[in-house]
Amino acid sequence: MTTQNKGELFVVGIGPGSEEHLTPAALDAIRQAQVIVGYRTYIDLVRPLLEGKEIFKTGMTEEIGRARAAVSRAQAGEKVALISSGDPGVYGMAGLVFEVLREIGWKRGESPKLHIIPGITAMNSCSSLVGAPLVHDFCSVSLSDLLTPWPVIERRIEAAAQADFVIGLYNPKSGRRTKQIVIAQQIVSKYRKQETPVALVKSAYRDLETVILSDLAHFLDYEIGMLTTVIIGSTNSYVYEGYMVTPRGYTNKYSWDGKAHEGQKPGVSLRLNEVGKPV
Ligand code: SAH
Repeated sequence: MTTQNKGELFVVGIGPGSEEHLTPAALDAIRQAQVIVGYRTYIDLVRPLLEGKEIFKTGMTEEIGRARAAVSRAQAGEKVALISSGDPGVYGMAGLVFEVLREIGWKRGESPKLHIIPGITAMNSCSSLVGAPLVHDFCSVSLSDLLTPWPVIERRIEAAAQADFVIGLYNPKSGRRTKQIVIAQQIVSKYRKQETPVALVKSAYRDLETVILSDLAHFLDYEIGMLTTVIIGSTNSYVYEGYMVTPRGYTNKYSWDGKAHEGQKPGVSLRLNEVGKPV
């Protein structure tokens, strides 16, 4: 492949949906691209930026077709932006792009030149709307069992609940997939109190944004859908003035004047007593 017809493929994360939360790098990639490939809803979110470009829209279930089309157009010499919501590397198109590249035997240095442009993932955008729930260890689990066997998903929820991670649930529920979130609630309830805060954020930074702060006992009473992310607190998460907060743990070690508590040394590991609590 000669350098003259070297195409470029930008795998672009557009963030949650509002233009202010699109990074300048993502914007630049979209500006440079001659061809834009993406799921209809995401294309519509960035429509004002697309004037004069060729738009290749497809539906939700045509992800492989979309990735293949983007790769082959770019390989042939065009600049192509493949658009993903949030971050392309978090349950996004970046993984599929690598599968297509492997399938065609692409090597680094060949056409297309690959750029993966990060975006604000739903965990981050949703967290910002509810307070500071991710300030200590957290993980995410997708409840979609279209491509992952349900027993694997159940095992991960169980492990995350047991290890006291704050848990972000992506793809919690759809029209046809309604039981998973109920089972997830039951699993987490084995390890956490019913008062544990749970946030439901729908369409973060989009027109129909909804934020609900509930708890483990009641969150299933609210609407949850394809555009919702569920954030389940750890045993340390609390609600303050309508915000969900997970403390980093400073107060275990320091008082507000910045001095270490008795028995603790600044800058070294937290000391615990025989029952595992800070001394
Ligand atoms: N790549 C995307 C995730 C795709 S999976 C990202 O990094 O955010 C699709 C799931 O993401 C949805 O079911 C929902 O759980 C979550 N999601 C994506 N955008 C969202 C938004 N604006 N508000 C709330 N949740 C969102």
